[in-house]
Amino acid sequence: MRVLVVGGGGREHALVWKIRQSPLVKEVYCAPGNAGIARQARCVPIGVGDLQGLVGFARRERIDLTVVGPEEPLVKGITERFQQEGLTVFGVSSKAAILEGSKSYAKKLMKRYGIPTAAFEIFGEPQEARNYVKSRGVPLVLKADGLAAGKGVFVCRSLEEAYRAIEEIMVRKSFGQAGEKVVVEDCLEGEEASFLAITDGETVVPFPAAQDHKAVFDNDEGPNTGGMGAYSPAPVMTDALARCVMEDIMLPTVRAMAQEGRPYKGILYAGLMISKEGPKVLEFNVRLGDPEAQPLMVLLKSDLVPLLLAALDGRLSQVKPVWENGAAVCVVMASGGYPGPYQKGKIISGLDEAESMKGVVVFHAGTKWEGGRFLTDGGRVLGVTAQGQQVAEAIDRAYKAVGQIHWEGVHYRKDIGQKALRRGRRE
Ligand code: AMP
Repeated sequence: MRVLVVGGGGREHALVWKIRQSPLVKEVYCAPGNAGIARQARCVPIGVGDLQGLVGFARRERIDLTVVGPEEPLVKGITERFQQEGLTVFGVSSKAAILEGSKSYAKKLMKRYGIPTAAFEIFGEPQEARNYVKSRGVPLVLKADGLAAGKGVFVCRSLEEAYRAIEEIMVRKSFGQAGEKVVVEDCLEGEEASFLAITDGETVVPFPAAQDHKAVFDNDEGPNTGGMGAYSPAPVMTDALARCVMEDIMLPTVRAMAQEGRPYKGILYAGLMISKEGPKVLEFNVRLGDPEAQPLMVLLKSDLVPLLLAALDGRLSQVKPVWENGAAVCVVMASGGYPGPYQKGKIISGLDEAESMKGVVVFHAGTKWEGGRFLTDGGRVLGVTAQGQQVAEAIDRAYKAVGQIHWEGVHYRKDIGQKALRRGRRE
C-alpha cells in the first residue's frame, strides 16, 4: 500500500513511524511533514489546509490510504473531498468533526443525550455573558466556541478574569470567528485524563488512557500550551472507571452522533475530568491528541494499518489491537519562550546519542534540516518518547535521553509522569 499522512507535528511523526512498520505498506508520504519525518517518509510541501492540493497529490500518486492527523482539515471537509474522488481516507467527516469544531454543539449534544459534563450556558452577546458570570459567581470556565488551537479556554477564579476573558474572546476577537459565541461552564475539580478510542460508527475500541501536561511549567503552572508531555496508561483510569467511561460517554456519544445524522467514524477523544461524582467531559477532539499519540503509537504492539482499515469498513468488532505491557512517556522539548514568542534556527545537538538509547524514540515536531544538521523550527521541537516495564522506568529512560539533547534556550518540564508515580505510591 501507499499511505499518505497529513500533518507535520510530533503526532504525525509517530503515525509515520508506526505505519512504516506495517508489512502491508510499501511507501509512506507525509504532507507537509518535518525534518525528522523526512528520514522515514517522502515529505511533500502541501499544507494541511490545502484540500485541493492534497486531493490532487493523492490521485496522482495513487495513494491507497490517507491518514489525517490534525483537526483543521477534518473540520474543513477533507474526508468528504477525498471520498468524492473515490480515495480512501481515515478521519471523521466534517459533519462529525463539529464535535470538536463547535464547543456549543458538543455541549448541547451532551445535554440532550445525558452525557456527563459541566453545567453551562452559551452566549452570543458580551453583556449577556457578563450578566451570567456575575450571577453565577466564580470559579467559571470560559471557552471560545470554535477552534482556537487549544488557546481559547480560560479558567477564571475571579470576576475580573472572567470579564477579561469575555473581552478577549468576544470583543477583541482574539480567536477570530471562533469567538462569536462563548460557552460559560462550571469549573470542575479532579484529575484530568485523555480517553481515546477508534470507532467504525458502531463498535468503539478504547485505547489505553493517557494523560497530557498542558501547562508550560512544572506543577501545572504557567500558561497552557499544545501539550508539554504525555504518558500512558494513566493509573487514574482504573478498569472499572474505563468501563464507566465507555458506557456513559463513548458509546452514547457515537450513538448520539448517528442519531443526529452525523455518523462518527474515526478517532474519538474525550478530554475528561475525573471528578468526585465520576468522569465528566471537558471537551471532545475528533483526532489523536498531540502529544498523546506519541506514547500510544509506541505502546501499540499490533499493526495500526489493519485497525484503521477495519474502522473504515465497519469491521472493528472483528479486530482487537494488542498493546505492550508496560508504559510509555513522551517529554516535549520546546523553544525557550514558547507558548509566547521564541527564536528559531538553533542548532540541536545530541540527537544520535538520544536515539541510540534503549526503548527511546525521538519524534520531531518543529525541526528543519539545514547545512547537514537539525535546527529548531517551531515552539514544540521534539517529543522524546520512551517505553519501560513500568512508568518509572519509562520516565527514567525518557529523561536520560532528554539529557543528551541540547540547544540554546531549550525548555522542557521535569515532572512529566509524576502524577502517575504519585498515584502508584498511594495505591
Ligand atoms: P478544553 O480545551 O476544553 O479541554 O480545555 C482546556 C483545559 O482547560 C482543560 O484541559 C482543563 O485543564 C481546563 N478546563 C476546561 N474545562 C474545564 C472545566 N469545566 N473545569 C475545570 N477545568 C476545565
